[in-house]
Amino acid sequence: MKYALVTGGSRGIGRAVCLTLSQMGIPVLINYQSNDTAAREVLDTVVSRGGSAELLKFDVGNEQEVSAALDAWEQNHPDDYIAYLINNAGIRRDNLMFMMPEQDWHDVINTSLNGFYYVTRKLLPKMLMRKHGGHIVNMASLSGLKGMPGQTNYSAAKAALIGATKALAQEVASRNVTVNAVAPGFIESDMTKDLPVEDLKKMVPMNRFGKPEEVAALVGFLCSDAAGYITGEVISINGGLYT
Ligand code: NAP
Repeated sequence: MKYALVTGGSRGIGRAVCLTLSQMGIPVLINYQSNDTAAREVLDTVVSRGGSAELLKFDVGNEQEVSAALDAWEQNHPDDYIAYLINNAGIRRDNLMFMMPEQDWHDVINTSLNGFYYVTRKLLPKMLMRKHGGHIVNMASLSGLKGMPGQTNYSAAKAALIGATKALAQEVASRNVTVNAVAPGFIESDMTKDLPVEDLKKMVPMNRFGKPEEVAALVGFLCSDAAGYITGEVISINGGLYT
């Protein structure tokens, strides 16, 4: 059986991705760090819609936790493998560069970039060994393409993720593994709820924030057979904000 692992699958975009992939008939592993209630709600929703899911709690930025959780899962699932990996977990710690605490720099890089490295390196060998390969989708951002003032840490992390996406795509293409990045603009979620939405909307040609389900639909497509020849791409989804 081929599973999907969605890091940061308990809220926002990750939650919507879990629901979309499970609607595609893929059993989903919902990763999260701390919010048990939110993760349980996603699990219950997947199951109530006829899908199948498991919770997998670990901090993507902690190599020991990543290894322990994925080793335990593999031991319990000797005949299965994770064929779809959505590296979605991410945090914001915005500040102007000259005031940015060192911890905020490291925490943002650690979650988005090191998290990608720890989880992907762990799962790649199995994906490469299977003839059906796999699909990896990395959640980048408009900030990683354009750079956003007040977000040097976040922009650096997401730009690095885009570089890693392009490099890895070429490494594993011959083994039927695709690696793509999605770069959302402003999307409605807990991450953006404290932003001045009305002001920011005016900057977006579509005059609205995107919905997590719209990002999830793109991720679902990149995980489908129809997208089998797309790799190393960064696909923007931002209502025309940046082209
Ligand atoms: P969100 O609503 O804040 O949800 C974040 C999710 O990530 C939660 O499930 C959270 O789990 C999990 N998480 C955070 N740190 C983690 C860690 N160290 N290990 C495991 N899980 C962790 O965020 P979102 O808006 O859905 O964003 C999802 C991704 O899209 C992020 O990578 C973000 O950078 C990117 N993105 C978002 C936007 C936007 O406008 N929203 C735009 C561009 C890119 P807990 O609940 O347990 O903490």
